[in-house]
Amino acid sequence: MIEVCFRRGLFATAGGPPAQAPTQAPAQSPSDTHDAALALGRAVLQRHGLARLEVTIHANRRHVLCWRLRGPAPQLQVHWALLPRPDAILAAIEDQDGARQRLLKELPPPRRVTPLRPRGSTHDLEALLAHEIPRLPAIDVPAVTWGRWPSIPPRRRLRLGSCALPPHEPLIRIHPVLDHRTVPAWFVRFILFHELLHLAFPPEEVGTRRWLHPPAFRRAEASHLDHDRALAWERAHLDELILRCRQRRAGAR
Ligand SMILES: [Zn+2]
Repeated sequence: MIEVCFRRGLFATAGGPPAQAPTQAPAQSPSDTHDAALALGRAVLQRHGLARLEVTIHANRRHVLCWRLRGPAPQLQVHWALLPRPDAILAAIEDQDGARQRLLKELPPPRRVTPLRPRGSTHDLEALLAHEIPRLPAIDVPAVTWGRWPSIPPRRRLRLGSCALPPHEPLIRIHPVLDHRTVPAWFVRFILFHELLHLAFPPEEVGTRRWLHPPAFRRAEASHLDHDRALAWERAHLDELILRCRQRRAGAR
């Protein structure tokens, strides 16, 4: 027996708006997707000698393929874009060489939900990024934007930058609190450099842990001329930056 489920928001519900706007709707219709999921379910059922299987179709680009084929309730969760490749999915489940990488290539480019805003009132992130790119010539130039003000003001820590990594489209976001005349351009550049390093030195998996800043990352970071003064500037101004976030939040009410 095969049961096919669609993750919430994958398709608009008939006769009404979707419960949640889909970030990426399947290119196929719901019935085509259902048929493809059934065919995949049958192939897995047959290959692994199972009596039943629940197949869940989703649009989660972080966990494109997950399965648990043992136990009383075997399950397979798969991104909709992989459905046309049942053979490649079977190969990935069997852990064949390169199978997972081949599957990731099936993902469509992500749709950018919010427009990019690299030019702030004080700092132009694209110009600052162009300054740092030559330090890491082997990486593709990512998109860059000022992030949004957080809805909950920070208490003690502040994440000044982030970088979306493959399979997502590489995108660096910088905290808008840094777009201020009191923040030196060289400090923003150093934050951009740190985020670029995430592309040059992808996270390492150590057991069940994900090592975001492996030793090679830290060595490359320490080689930046502004490394010491940037860390010192951050320590000296962190309270002031947090305060500005909180004031901004209070002003927005
Ligand atoms: Zn980092």
